[in-house]
Amino acid sequence: MKKHQKTLLVALPLVAAMSLVGCKNMGADDLASLGMKGLKAATLSDNDVKALSQQSCAQMDAESRIAPKNSAYTKRLNKIAKSLGNNLNGTPINYKVYITKDVNAWAMANGCVRVYSGLMDMMTDNEIQGVLGHELGHVALGHSKKAIQVAYATEMALDAAASSGNAKIASLSKSKLGALASAVINAQFSQKQEQDADNYSFDYLVKKKINPAGLATAFDKLGGGDASILSSHPSSTARADNIRKKLAELKK
Ligand SMILES: [Zn+2]
Repeated sequence: MKKHQKTLLVALPLVAAMSLVGCKNMGADDLASLGMKGLKAATLSDNDVKALSQQSCAQMDAESRIAPKNSAYTKRLNKIAKSLGNNLNGTPINYKVYITKDVNAWAMANGCVRVYSGLMDMMTDNEIQGVLGHELGHVALGHSKKAIQVAYATEMALDAAASSGNAKIASLSKSKLGALASAVINAQFSQKQEQDADNYSFDYLVKKKINPAGLATAFDKLGGGDASILSSHPSSTARADNIRKKLAELKK
């Protein structure tokens, strides 16, 4: 999820995009067009995906300012996390807050969920529940796994040594991991994936007895952002409308 802030775009061009609203990374089609079909993306095992996600998340943590355990942000997120649960179909979920004005939240395939304080500042707890339900949806529906596979294939293809077949996931350099992590959190999800994650969030919140209305108002707040970010995705308005339609159905 992301609402771009122009100042941060300049300062942090690589991490400035957002998984919920949209982004601009290489997708599977771009890879195919580069003739890299069938590269390592297809052969990464679930354990590789988990290890890569863990390392990418650790790299993002190392590059970020993590809210202290006793901070108001962490306490607030912990409360929200408790309502959502710490386990998603067997994947343990690990929540942390990054202190930054940027408005963002993302999740990786290993259950690493990061929420930026800039997003927490502009949203209610219920809206954050909706946003995180969406991010958990990307994990549960396998989108996050696919994203890191594509990112890995892309990064390795750009690396002559790695593409000779000598690359070992365990020995990726920090800069390589940093690039991989950026690619993952900027991953471009398709319109269908975004809508599926929205619907997943809705159903998940209902199942957890949480009001799904926050998901709609979260989109209202994200509306009016940089149009180019939203160009290849359902608009915030369309997404809020979708959730409101489901809310109306629920009340029938
Ligand atoms: Zn998304």
